[in-house]
Amino acid sequence: MIATALQPQDMIDPFGRTITYLRVSVTDRCDLRCFYCMSEDMTFLPKADLLTLEELDRLCSIFIAKGVRKLRLTGGEPLVRRNMMSLVRALSRHLTSGALDELTLTTNGSLLSKFAAELASCGVRRINVSLDTLDADCFRHITRWGEIDKVLAGIRAAQAAGLRVKINTVALKNINEDEIPQLIEWAHGEGMDLTLIEVMPLGDIGPGRVDQYLPLSLVRSRLEGRFSLTDLDERTGGPARYARVRETGGKLGFITPLTHNFCESCNRVRITCTGTIHTCLGQEDASDLRRPLRASDDDALVSEAIDRAIGTKPKGHDFIIDRRHSRPSVSRHMSVTGG
Ligand code: SAM
Ligand code: SF4
Repeated sequence: MIATALQPQDMIDPFGRTITYLRVSVTDRCDLRCFYCMSEDMTFLPKADLLTLEELDRLCSIFIAKGVRKLRLTGGEPLVRRNMMSLVRALSRHLTSGALDELTLTTNGSLLSKFAAELASCGVRRINVSLDTLDADCFRHITRWGEIDKVLAGIRAAQAAGLRVKINTVALKNINEDEIPQLIEWAHGEGMDLTLIEVMPLGDIGPGRVDQYLPLSLVRSRLEGRFSLTDLDERTGGPARYARVRETGGKLGFITPLTHNFCESCNRVRITCTGTIHTCLGQEDASDLRRPLRASDDDALVSEAIDRAIGTKPKGHDFIIDRRHSRPSVSRHMSVTGG
């Protein structure tokens, strides 16, 4: 692997926001097809366009040298990428050196049983597992063919390996909306926080986006009929707002890109498995880092390309879902940028 000789320097965008968080989509492929994320007949990126794991490691290391302190691996499903653990192990050297505060992962959990112990041995301390229902039939409906038992076994394996697990649940009208209180009680009962997410208008998934959208303002007011929620001050530079649920003692997050704007404190950028940087999840902005990465063994070219991209980071997104806006706000699917 190529060592980077860059000096630590802050990446600051035109609105004064310092970039310290990198999300890396290591593959756009997935073993599931959640209907709000992908169409059934997705066209995936040609394998030839993908960065190798060594190139991903080099690119991530350049970001770390430039001030990234937290790195999240995502996808598609990160655990379906072949030899994925070699990337996790390589990146863990930045935890050992103290250059990185956290290396983490967002996964659908279906392959976690196989990889949980190795993730923990690489210094991963907590992970997010996406799970929208506890009902096997509903799970198969949402994911088009997934088996919930694999995910539940994966969660147990992660906990047994000492990983802290947070559950991410997309709130879906008429699909899981009645189950949300049970999901919260289950997650909190198992020692896991849970974060609810509003459906975002990313990627063409066929008809139905408007029908899926369930505003979290409505979910919250319903939950308040059943639980006592106390807002917490906690902020992670991201979209989530947290509350403590008195009855369970657990923490409940709300990611509300549509009903609240959260962009003023945004500290993150995203790279895809082909080396494209997106500085905003909710805008079409994109810059290529693969060409400068491959053009030279010297990291300076990539570093300059990163600075140029961050210099154009948009102020914020303008997601809208309503009957007049049934097309996606952003054409790329969530599986390309990893959320
Ligand atoms: N496959 C992994 C997983 O499902 O956790 C990682 C990638 S997935 C794209 C990351 C997160 O994005 C998941 O929690 C998923 O539920 C969420 N997601 C996907 N499409 C979404 C959409 N259109 N709106 C809101 N969340 C979405
Ligand atoms: Fe796959 Fe995750 Fe998208 Fe579901 S949400 S299809 S698990 S990438």
